[in-house]
Amino acid sequence: MGLTLDLRTIFVTGALTCFIIGVMQLMTFATGRFTRSPVWWGTSSLCIGVGLLGAAFRDTIPDLLSIEFANTAMLAGCLLLLFGIRHFGGRELNWFGFGIVLLAVWILLSLSPGEQGYAVRVMIVAIVMAFCDAAIVREAVRLGREEKLRSAWLLAALFAPTVVIYTGRIVLAAFDQVGTTLFPKDAGTNAWLAAVGVTFIILRGQALLLLAAERSNRMLATLARRDPLTGAMNRSGVEQWVDQQIRGLKHGEVRVSVLLVDIDHFKALNDTHGHAAGDEILRVFANAVRGQLRSGDLLARQGGDEFAIILPNVGVREAVRVAERIRGVFKDALAEFGNLPGPPTLSIGVAENDLRGRSLDQLLAEADEALYRAKRLGRDRVQAQLRPIEA
Ligand code: GH3
Ligand code: MG
Repeated sequence: MGLTLDLRTIFVTGALTCFIIGVMQLMTFATGRFTRSPVWWGTSSLCIGVGLLGAAFRDTIPDLLSIEFANTAMLAGCLLLLFGIRHFGGRELNWFGFGIVLLAVWILLSLSPGEQGYAVRVMIVAIVMAFCDAAIVREAVRLGREEKLRSAWLLAALFAPTVVIYTGRIVLAAFDQVGTTLFPKDAGTNAWLAAVGVTFIILRGQALLLLAAERSNRMLATLARRDPLTGAMNRSGVEQWVDQQIRGLKHGEVRVSVLLVDIDHFKALNDTHGHAAGDEILRVFANAVRGQLRSGDLLARQGGDEFAIILPNVGVREAVRVAERIRGVFKDALAEFGNLPGPPTLSIGVAENDLRGRSLDQLLAEADEALYRAKRLGRDRVQAQLRPIEA
């Protein structure tokens, strides 16, 4: 092979890359768009950078700096990266374990000095790194599975290969096949491995920021689709939902039932108990309804004290039964809530149709007619649409 890479130069380049990425990650946090996780990632990158730089000066500065300090700094960086991802996943951080591991590493490194201790040192470092990267893969897979974050899979793919490489190093070190020094005369494949390692550092930094950005975008999108008071969908959320339903089923009917619910005499409740009590009743209502819905059903706030509940694949008879059940659980929830004189009741209009043949607005208008009838007949009841005679 004509092209030879200088291992020391790669270490220095790697260190500088880590510093740049670390500063970038810290600046990302400073924008205030994300949670605290980029602080961990930034600090981790800086530690790894310090470790690489220290190692690059092996044999020109005291071993205490280039071996014990450099390796411990690098492993601290690896552990901080793991902690950052655990923090991102909302997990506990074990600082006691962090301290113990680093202390043990320092002591073991200082017990294996010189060229004869090199293989043992390689083994110690590779064990901690393999552990960190494997734990990161596990956490990334969890984020991909549970939160459905796509960039988490990218992260898992970027950390899995190094688990294999470090495991290989552990085996080689166990059989004393790693040489006796970090910078041999002919670095050979080690130099190429190190160059690939620097590329990985860059890609990982990017993947982490992607991960944070993906979650933050998702949170904003969720907020934009929901009513902050009750957590029910707002208008734009419902429209997106309807689009999804229609696109999800390429052919055939998208049959749904709609319940249009209005709280009776809500204004009176606001007037006698105050707006805050009114808000609380709205939340009680939304929670009571959510307890009755299946995962594919939708609760939306139409505005004020009016809500729409959409039940896919439910006929009008069944929908009326659901409506009666909702009236019941709302009553029970209010009973628990405290003794309100003349507690508010619900009037509900029910309509059923195919969303492909009729717009949601038409369906809501039909449910509204039924709701109006429920109000006129004295409130606190369910009415279904009068089916138009079909040709
Ligand atoms: P009806 O039985 O005919 O429905 O009588 P109502 O008093 O409930 O009349 P209506 O539905 O027209 O009144 C809705 C009231 O809801 C009017 C408004 O003051 C109140 N409201 C609207 N939005 C909110 C809110 O976010 N919080 C609270 N506390 N009150 C709200
Ligand atoms: Mg009302």
